[in-house]
Amino acid sequence: MSSNNKTEIKKGWISDVNDCIKKLEKDEFTLQEIYKFSEELKEKYPNNHHIEDKIRQMLQELRDAGVIQFLDNNGNYRKISANRNLNNTNDLIIGNIYTNEQICKVFKCSLMSGMAKSNTTNTLVLVANHTKSLYDDKWINDVLHYTGEGQKGNQELSKQNKTLYESGSNGIKVFLFEVFKKTEYYYQGEVYLAEEPYKDRQNDINGNERDVWIFPIKLVEGKAKIDLNVIKDNEKKKENAAKKLSDSKLNENVKKVKSTLSKREVKTTHIDRNSYVKEKTKRRANGICDLCKKEAPFNKKDNTPFLEPHHVIPLADDGPDQIYNTVALCPNCHRKMHHLKDPKDIKELTKMIYKYLTSEEDIEFIG
Ligand SMILES: [Zn+2]
Ligand SMILES: [Zn+2]
Repeated sequence: MSSNNKTEIKKGWISDVNDCIKKLEKDEFTLQEIYKFSEELKEKYPNNHHIEDKIRQMLQELRDAGVIQFLDNNGNYRKISANRNLNNTNDLIIGNIYTNEQICKVFKCSLMSGMAKSNTTNTLVLVANHTKSLYDDKWINDVLHYTGEGQKGNQELSKQNKTLYESGSNGIKVFLFEVFKKTEYYYQGEVYLAEEPYKDRQNDINGNERDVWIFPIKLVEGKAKIDLNVIKDNEKKKENAAKKLSDSKLNENVKKVKSTLSKREVKTTHIDRNSYVKEKTKRRANGICDLCKKEAPFNKKDNTPFLEPHHVIPLADDGPDQIYNTVALCPNCHRKMHHLKDPKDIKELTKMIYKYLTSEEDIEFIG
């Protein structure tokens, strides 16, 4: 199948699932309600034996495309178009993505930089923009060490920095959004100044070191969670930017790395892998990597050879979690498969699987 073909099929799927959502005729819906269309979709795609997995994948794509929002991690969704009725902060849902326009409408502010104050609603909106390297806003567990405003020279406790500094006593409510992709603002909820603000040293927009103000803030309710994939994508972008630096610039930046680790909780989707399939895959490899045919590099503490099960067609692409789609690989070959996806290697692995299945013992798995 050419890759071109594949995107077309995906497009079909994505619009089919979107049609199911439309048929529900409500702003908020659940995964179970969409699953009810499984039979209908199965008729259309008789070769797909993982309809529910596919539906979930399409819901993620619809989210990435800005059509729906995930309300939580338990299969509750909302149509973005329903957000037209946003009028005040009570209409905002924590964890949802909003646009700059929507934020301005709700808070009655103009969001040009990291902080926006509104005298009409008596609020201060904070944006922690993780796409820019200028401000180094870090979560340390449930406290966000938020950098004040001012891109050039020393930051002063004036304007919105002053508003935030005095937020404990000036009666202004403070709200936090985080940005990982331009134009997507994750709403995290109301925040408060949790500790005394302090001064730090960071580079300004011209690369000159200067004083900044750091405001340790905390959410009034719960913990800020972001999808793991969103954070990983952002990390990847920063790694790519780092690749382009000269040696001297890289060294200069390495020297300035602070030793405090940025830690936060994340949301993640886990696909269960069957333990029998895993065990069978390793056992039939008998300590030899299915790709390079070399012995496992070491034995684990339980004395079994260290090989890793791998799905030739990835689970995320609807590959089955069955022994006719799995191989056991040494760590090097496993990394190689994920990075290169070389068709020659895939062919070799398919050949190995065929060999296993046609061996006497496993003959029953064919057909
Ligand atoms: Zn290998
Ligand atoms: Zn793998």
